[in-house]
Amino acid sequence: MILQIIDICYLVAVVLFIIGIKLMSHPDSARRGNGIALSGMVLAIVASFLTPGLNNLILIFIAMALGTVGGLYFAKSVQMTAMPQLVSFFNGMGGAAAALIGLVEYGDLPVTDIGKGAVLMASLIIGSISFSGSMVAMGKLQGVIKDIRINKILGFLVLAAAVGLAVYVLYAGEPLPMLVYLLILLALIYGLLFVYPIGGADMPVVISLLNALTGVTAATTGLLYDNKVMLMGGILVGSAGLLLTLLMAKAMNRSVSNILFTSFGTASGASAPGQSGDQVAKEINAYDTAILLAYAKRVVVVPGYGLAVAQAQHAVHDLEKILEEKGVEVLYGIHPVAGRMPGHMNVLLAESDVPYDKLIEMDDMNEQLPNTDVVMVIGANDVVNPAANDDPSSPIYGMPILEVNRAANVIVIKRSMSSGYAGIQNALFFDAKTRMLFGDAKKVLNGLVNEVKNM
Ligand code: NDP
Repeated sequence: MILQIIDICYLVAVVLFIIGIKLMSHPDSARRGNGIALSGMVLAIVASFLTPGLNNLILIFIAMALGTVGGLYFAKSVQMTAMPQLVSFFNGMGGAAAALIGLVEYGDLPVTDIGKGAVLMASLIIGSISFSGSMVAMGKLQGVIKDIRINKILGFLVLAAAVGLAVYVLYAGEPLPMLVYLLILLALIYGLLFVYPIGGADMPVVISLLNALTGVTAATTGLLYDNKVMLMGGILVGSAGLLLTLLMAKAMNRSVSNILFTSFGTASGASAPGQSGDQVAKEINAYDTAILLAYAKRVVVVPGYGLAVAQAQHAVHDLEKILEEKGVEVLYGIHPVAGRMPGHMNVLLAESDVPYDKLIEMDDMNEQLPNTDVVMVIGANDVVNPAANDDPSSPIYGMPILEVNRAANVIVIKRSMSSGYAGIQNALFFDAKTRMLFGDAKKVLNGLVNEVKNM
């Protein structure tokens, strides 16, 4: 009877996970979705305590308390721009947990159970790769680990050695703990070799892929324990991670193999404001910008990574409100890969209570741009780079962009002429319609709010 109750709780928990994920696909319902998925997780944890013969309760509670305190602390203190690092860290912990569970279970396994043994070896290898790979990804995003070129063949040899050892251990017919430690070590090394050579800027895609791997290890652990909620939760995480990886690659118009096996996104150094090589961009000051904005019918804001760096989401909302008081319509053009994580701009603007109906997706916005008086590009670069449309030699060629030069005027707010994520120059800055307003986005926007107020 108790086992049936547990199974029903697990089933309800999985349904709650799925509803939660569905609701998270829109900013309006994302918070609710998170709450629903959380309640599913609480239900699954409570139900697992009903399992007959559960022991080591004190240790379990200590581990849960440590995890809860650590998780709460990190989630509360993390900066919005450091969110991808946190996700990578949490993901690495998931991989490590799966590998450790595999290690503990190895001792208890009958040597002859090849099926369970194979699942366990998969947990050990994939969990270890996910752990070390995620730690390198976190270090790269934080800027403490640099890109290192490593021959891909070396990585494949190490992986092949780990898999070969796993097969040997599986069929040896006797426990071989030292070889199991060695295969974990090889898998950890493979995780390092896999992520080290990938360009730092591609880390969000790598993290999403590693997240899919962690999902797979959670699923294999679920198989080991015959735990249905772990199995289904793992499958959900694995498939969601894989889909997200493919979607991000598609939005950048690059293949996943191009992202994983070529170095891309080494940003160039900063150059003097207004100048890049022989080309000189036209500048504008805050006063003239304020006049342009205040007398416009429609202003479109295109936010990018720099808006997140400057934490200028409240300042841009203040400017929007003050312009709307003057009868100007203000909308936001949202590119799917603006910033450094999917939905980055939506989350950022939601933080400052920008109404969701003002956030217009790229394709719809491109149609509205010819009827727009002023576009303000704030801390965005690649997502408005016309090279994506007209330079076949550009690394971003083919990536869909917000075609801001369809509008009557373009104001670009950034600190210098330096490049963005893709490390390439942007011809938009030298376009006849474009004026550069140099400075930190938050300071510039606060200045504009004052100027518009004084008009
Ligand atoms: P970019 O990285 O292309 O450009 C950001 C710009 O912001 C820089 O040129 C920088 O110029 C400026 N900036 C930085 N700090 C500030 C500041 N404090 N104030 C004002 N400006 C600032 O960003 P985009 O959002 O345009 O493009 C995102 C890129 O990231 C795309 O190439 C995308 O493919 C990639 N990417 C996105 C992912 C996602 O999921 N969203 C995942 C992986 C990659 P300056 O230094 O002169 O100020």
